[in-house]
Amino acid sequence: MSLSQLFEKKQVTSYELFPPKTPAGEKSLRRHVEQLMQFSPDFITCTYGAGGSTQGKTLDIIEDVKNLYNIPVASHLTLVGSSVDDLRAYLEQARARSVDYIVALRGDPPQGETEFQATEGGYQYANELVELINNEFKDLGVLVAGYPEKHREAPSLDVDLDNLKRKVDAGAHAIVTQLFYNNEDFFRFRDLCEQKGINIPIVPGLLPVTSLKQIQRISSLCGAKLPMPFVQELEANPEPDDQFKIGVAQAIEQTQELIDAEVAGLHFYVLNKSDATVEIMTAINRTSPSD
Ligand SMILES: Cc1cc2nc3c(=O)[nH]c(=O)nc-3n(C[C@H](O)[C@H](O)[C@H](O)COP(=O)(O)OP(=O)(O)OC[C@H]3O[C@@H](n4cnc5c(N)ncnc54)[C@H](O)[C@@H]3O)c2cc1C
Repeated sequence: MSLSQLFEKKQVTSYELFPPKTPAGEKSLRRHVEQLMQFSPDFITCTYGAGGSTQGKTLDIIEDVKNLYNIPVASHLTLVGSSVDDLRAYLEQARARSVDYIVALRGDPPQGETEFQATEGGYQYANELVELINNEFKDLGVLVAGYPEKHREAPSLDVDLDNLKRKVDAGAHAIVTQLFYNNEDFFRFRDLCEQKGINIPIVPGLLPVTSLKQIQRISSLCGAKLPMPFVQELEANPEPDDQFKIGVAQAIEQTQELIDAEVAGLHFYVLNKSDATVEIMTAINRTSPSD
């Protein structure tokens, strides 16, 4: 089913994995994916080379999921270190391995560098990759990234939205957002997108907090704001089990509010662990594909 058809039918749920670095990590991932499958996600995605050199593994992971569960899968793909010919070769491989969708991204500058530099013979911005897919790989659905709190390099949210529109005009089918914890930021972003004429589905990206340390590290990397009362509650409860419970309770509340606001879908950054997402899906009563 095409991405557009899928979003027309229902509020879509997707889970994002990353390629494990060790065989033990792969074994554990399989176990966690099995847990997540009881909630019948609409598709699974796997990151590409984020912060490491696991690019080759992305397709292995999603192929494995597809073979085991026969559901649509998406490979993330970035411009980092790739010429246009390399990107084309990856997309051909993805197509040959029955990948359904691509999350088309620019990627971050490599560690130690502050500015993204296009590889020789490569692209500078994600909209160019979207255009390549739309011209030469029309059968692949395309998701792109959006930033409710603005991409950290953009001079303003308005400029960032103009750049998001370039990706939409180049043929993207849906937007998945960076993680955020204030739904107001998402709702404002959705309204502004509408005003800009961005009319494809916009899916909130959700990362349930399972420990204060983890989320402080992640939000410092991506720039997501953490609500102060939430941080204070986590600080006042340093025990791991308590932090997990507080994080999950916040995530349930945040997710329910988004569902009530009829968002196009829910994308969970599950970070290869099922525990928090299982609790959230159970609480929001998502148990079958028709829900
Ligand atoms: C859902 C999601 C999944 C992700 N998965 C991965 C992953 O698997 N691997 C990984 O390495 N990273 C991943 N990232 C991180 C992402 O690569 C970074 O956030 C990166 O810094 C920007 O990528 P982008 O595709 O949004 O870039 P772009 O859309 O190219 O935007 C980058 C910056 O350039 C500006 N810009 C865009 N187009 C133009 C233009 N034509 N002219 C001038 N300025 C422009 C934008 O405003 C923005 O500031 C993910 C992010 C999200 C939200």
